[in-house]
Amino acid sequence: MRDTTRFYIDGKWVEPVSPKTADVINPATEQVSGAISLGSADDVNKAVAAARRAFESWSRTSVKERLDLLRAIQAEYTARLQDLGEAVTEEMGAPLSLGCGFQAGLGAGHLQTAIEVLEQFKFEEQRGQTLILREPIGVCGLITPWNWPLNQVTVKVFPALATGCTSVLKPPQLAPYSAQILAEIMHKAGTPAGVFNMIQGQGSVIGSALSKHPDVDMISFTGSEPVGIQISKDAADTVKRVGLELGGKSAWIILDDADLAVNVAAATSGMMVNSGQTCSAGSRLLVPNSRMEEAVAAAKAAADAVTVGDPLSDVAMGPVVSKSQWNIIQDYIQKGLDEGATLISGGLGRPTGLDRGYFVKPTVFGCTNDAVIAREEIFGPVLVMIGYDDLDHAVAIANDSDFGLGGYVSGRDKDVAISLARQMRTGAIWINGGFDFHAPFGGYKHSGNGREWGEYGFHEYLEVKSIMVGG
Ligand code: NDP
Repeated sequence: MRDTTRFYIDGKWVEPVSPKTADVINPATEQVSGAISLGSADDVNKAVAAARRAFESWSRTSVKERLDLLRAIQAEYTARLQDLGEAVTEEMGAPLSLGCGFQAGLGAGHLQTAIEVLEQFKFEEQRGQTLILREPIGVCGLITPWNWPLNQVTVKVFPALATGCTSVLKPPQLAPYSAQILAEIMHKAGTPAGVFNMIQGQGSVIGSALSKHPDVDMISFTGSEPVGIQISKDAADTVKRVGLELGGKSAWIILDDADLAVNVAAATSGMMVNSGQTCSAGSRLLVPNSRMEEAVAAAKAAADAVTVGDPLSDVAMGPVVSKSQWNIIQDYIQKGLDEGATLISGGLGRPTGLDRGYFVKPTVFGCTNDAVIAREEIFGPVLVMIGYDDLDHAVAIANDSDFGLGGYVSGRDKDVAISLARQMRTGAIWINGGFDFHAPFGGYKHSGNGREWGEYGFHEYLEVKSIMVGG
């Protein structure tokens, strides 16, 4: 049993002001795996005060001092990679190979990227008579979700630290363990008191208190659209900067010249990674109508081949994060059936042989873009296939969405693929599987605002000052 009942405030592990705990459930077993404390506004006040005090000195540190700390954190992070991965598996159900692989690896990647960016970042520049300074914005409230828990935390904590900001992290109740280990890493690496603080508990209490707090200068949030809207409203009275990374319903366009079977299989199995709980997942697969039959066969074969089960064993897919997430996904599958979508693979209920744990069948539907399952973010292993007539039609379908976070194009002719990417109203597009830690990441439309990752992620945490010097 894991104990994460103490908070990390002002460089110390402290008891909450008013003790209150909640169980943490292992989604693969439905058993209690540990407990967290549910913090209160009083804990937020303590953490914000510590962060404010620390900002005075941390904001004045040199780039070298911050690089030294990031490198010390990197050494500790590397030493605890396995612990971090195991924690992710236990808290949110990713297979161990994913937890210790890409899940923990993304955190390591963001840390290395923060170091690389800080090594060359220009905090000052002269433009004509104006000296432009980029200065840390102040105390940052960082509110994160459970789906890629280390990715979401590290893409906020390290740029904040690197730019001279101090922070208070509120990890998700459902996935508190990896954040706890990260706080241990920050402590062991010698992070000065108050520079990084962490409080566990309910978003409606702690997240809201952070968003409204007069001494918090900025909120960076990743999660659902309704909560993003609420945070923006809560932050408005104190005129905070708010960065939002919200949901998506991203299109994956397979071009006519692509190896259809290979690419449809890659898109289908890609959708099932992390049990489909990825904001930028290619959850709408667009294939030429002329080759739909072939595409459906490839998608069915790929979905049927996804192994589901105990995340500690050698499987491709574990459970989804919680009972409530399982129910939401089942409701969407039912909606798809009710709407008359064609069920290609999977469907309602748990996969055969799994009667405990929040396991979902890898599911593929054929439908049109006006179906609810094609419009709303399901956040589970459910892919919809939609046919297109020509490239203009493909772009029109891709853009016919309230969201605009990710996008994918598979095809041999890169010029055609790039021309499509130019027309897609979305923040990040992967052509034939590209990946880059330095590429800015964030959404158009209801997928949010602001950009994380790499150098763009630094700008989120910086104010810009102009000093104009006359004769
Ligand atoms: P939420 O948006 O509810 O939670 C994300 C974080 O925000 C959690 O830490 C949560 O705390 C916190 N939070 C909740 N309410 C508030 C509030 N009023 N003020 C400040 N912070 C708050 O996501 P869920 O976990 O409930 O997931 C629901 C849906 O959101 C998913 O089905 C999916 O569609 C979408 N989602 C999108 C993600 C993305 O990466 N874009 C990631 C996760 C979810 P608490 O721990 O109490 O929940």
